[in-house]
Amino acid sequence: MDDRQFRNAMGKFATGVTVVAAQVDGKVHGMTANAFMSVSLNPKLVVVSIAEKAHMLEKIKQSKSFSVNILTADQQELSMIFAGQLKEHREVQFDWLGGIPVLHGSLAQITCEVSAAHVEGDHTLFIGKVKEIKIEDSEPLIYFSGKYRKLTEE
Ligand code: FAD
Repeated sequence: MDDRQFRNAMGKFATGVTVVAAQVDGKVHGMTANAFMSVSLNPKLVVVSIAEKAHMLEKIKQSKSFSVNILTADQQELSMIFAGQLKEHREVQFDWLGGIPVLHGSLAQITCEVSAAHVEGDHTLFIGKVKEIKIEDSEPLIYFSGKYRKLTEE
């Protein structure tokens, strides 16, 4: 099986889109991620999977905390910014929730403390113990087969 076939198959799993954010030495670093999942209700745990070559890996290791920001349908540009898909640098304003940077206007802002890190292949799974949550009433951004989508009603 080649890499392309694997990626194509995984891309058939429709997901939302998040921006994971962490602060180190007073600077906020953000990264687009769709490898996000709820893990446990009691205690409340989530997981994000970060590539070994992503700058975000060191940022989360150092800060020991991060936020997961679930994007709304009109935040596609933010997804592109934090995936490095736009050429020019854009200033992005972050809000703060319990001392952790969160993305303004997201569908949900979830702040976490790292409770475990598991290296699996070329990614690290960070288990986050959820500290605080803020939810907005809006529509989600969807990612499917390598393309951004929006939900439509039946
Ligand atoms: P960099 O490449 O250093 O940063 C990414 C971009 O964010 C750069 O353009 C940078 O300028 C900008 N940026 C960072 N912080 C700020 C800030 N404070 N203000 C303004 N701009 C800033 N990779 C994974 O490892 N796991 C995943 O689950 C995952 N899911 C993805 C889902 C989608 C839909 C997409 C499009 C990509 C996904 N990626 C994922 C790939 C990942 O987003 C990119 O490879 C990313 O560029 C790697 O980030 P990095 O930490 O190396 O950061």
